[in-house]
Amino acid sequence: MPYRSVVRLNRFPGGVQKAVTASYDDGAVHDRRLVSIFNKAGLKGTFHLNSGLLGRSDVLTEEEICSLFSGHEVAIHSMTHPHLTSLSPIQLSYEVMADRRNLESLVGYPVRGMSYPFGTKSAALSASLEAYGIEYARVVSESRSDYAMPGDWLDWHPTCHHKDRLCERFETFVASDPWVEMALFYVWGHSFEFHREDNWEIAEEFAKMARSHREELWFATNIEIKDYMEALRQVKISLDGTHILNPSAHTVWMEIDGEAATLAPGNLLNCRSLTARPFYQ
Ligand SMILES: [Zn+2]
Repeated sequence: MPYRSVVRLNRFPGGVQKAVTASYDDGAVHDRRLVSIFNKAGLKGTFHLNSGLLGRSDVLTEEEICSLFSGHEVAIHSMTHPHLTSLSPIQLSYEVMADRRNLESLVGYPVRGMSYPFGTKSAALSASLEAYGIEYARVVSESRSDYAMPGDWLDWHPTCHHKDRLCERFETFVASDPWVEMALFYVWGHSFEFHREDNWEIAEEFAKMARSHREELWFATNIEIKDYMEALRQVKISLDGTHILNPSAHTVWMEIDGEAATLAPGNLLNCRSLTARPFYQ
């Protein structure tokens, strides 16, 4: 019987099979407190900002964006937070592109993510987002107990809003054996809601629970999840399962004959000897 290994591309970084991400919209000044709670727990989030509104009394300032969100992701939420469906194509293009450009000048990296203001999507916008360099966009309708990765990255449904029994849902996620091999828990909201409703204990409790389970979870921003899933998708496996090539820039995790394994960027793995070498000379 010829040697044949069973390779499954079913692991996040760290070899785990569950990931957690968060996304908070509008850039309210209360993001400062939320980021501090996340940082203490090692949680990572994506903050969707309206660059045309920065500096308003209830909104963060341009000067603090880069340092405040260091280790997190900054992404667009349109320039001025309009109902997208009421805009002309040129207004739509401005709302997306100007926000992207402004935020890039503040953070110093390509900004590739978005959440739809008011959750409003339009056919014209969805068709254009790829050309605008937007690689994913989050909606507001929730998936609750479906922990699957989005089938369409421009229609990315979060698991729940933080007001929707976040801690209870998160506990269920951690304890569950999901039907998907790579399960994602995705919470969204606005930091001003914690302030307005005086329920910061929800954020604190969630962060505490996440921290206590950190060995079993991968904490990542939205774009880190997208990029990692792309890297996994690029992995090449020989037909007999004996050689695996990672052409991406990410270390990828997988399962080979039931055991977790890693493969460094640009490396080729021989599954018989479990030795890897650089593939590109
Ligand atoms: Zn918003």
